[in-house]
Amino acid sequence: MKCRRCRDMGKTKKAVIFLPHHNLSLCRDCFILWYEKQIGRTIKKMRMFTRKDKIMVAVSGGKDSLALWFALERLGYATDGMYINLGIEERNYSRISYEKAKKLSERIKRPLHVVDIKDIFEGKGISELNKLTRQPPCSICGLIKRYYTNKVALDKGYDCVATGHNLDDEVATLLLNTLSWDVDSLSRQAPVLPEKQGFARRVKPLVGMTEKENLLYCLLMEIDYAKEECPLSTGVSTIFYKQVFNKIEQKSPGTKLRFYFNFQKNIYPLLSPIKIPHLSPCSLCGQPTTTSDKICALCRFKEKVKNLTKN
Ligand code: SF4
Ligand code: ZN
Repeated sequence: MKCRRCRDMGKTKKAVIFLPHHNLSLCRDCFILWYEKQIGRTIKKMRMFTRKDKIMVAVSGGKDSLALWFALERLGYATDGMYINLGIEERNYSRISYEKAKKLSERIKRPLHVVDIKDIFEGKGISELNKLTRQPPCSICGLIKRYYTNKVALDKGYDCVATGHNLDDEVATLLLNTLSWDVDSLSRQAPVLPEKQGFARRVKPLVGMTEKENLLYCLLMEIDYAKEECPLSTGVSTIFYKQVFNKIEQKSPGTKLRFYFNFQKNIYPLLSPIKIPHLSPCSLCGQPTTTSDKICALCRFKEKVKNLTKN
């Protein structure tokens, strides 16, 4: 298979990938150019940020967020990284993930802010918090990630937080939410969540890129990423929906892109005005909260952990 872009320019080069959903075969150099251009286009089209903005990239050490950080740097955006050490010791997951994030930060010479949850929860990581509180690990993890990415971004004066959610993540979540007509979650599923009182802007520049494309970019750019999935991810329902979508995509290339972007174009605008909850500062930490007792979910969780540890 030959690279189509090279062919259009009168050259002949062997393709390294065929993208059926774009009907495009590309060689190494053309893929890199195409990949970065696609991200740049998404950022501009969705008005995520400009080159004047200070961007904090939430990195996990995995391929998606590291590919994003590297590509944003190459596109000339001012980006720093932020890593949350979840204290997951199974298969050395957190240690390895941190090393990969640190390695990229050194390679591109950009700072990496680190939050260690063991410092916050007296030596406990996600697994210990799960055993203690009996809350699902991913719900604890989600709460901690949402809270600390926002807090660090605001404390350090960033204009927005960029995350590595890719097209596969987004369509799996969208399908899950649609199957249960979860209007509340659907009304929050946008590539850009604007800043509002106490919340930094959150953006997902990789919404148009698949996992496979992010993986290839990492391989071609020699970005060292954590290959293991999180050991606590077993039973996560989006894994099943991703598999379902891959089967649909095989039969009908382009379905993922259509499902996601037609939702954004045709359905999301009808949903977004539905709920704008009233926010007030948490009486313990000052972060925004919607609860009537004015204590945010993270502070309530901290209290719970403290009480359970005492008993
Ligand atoms: Fe956190 Fe769950 Fe993802 Fe692991 S699988 S990183 S626990 S959200
Ligand atoms: Zn609080």
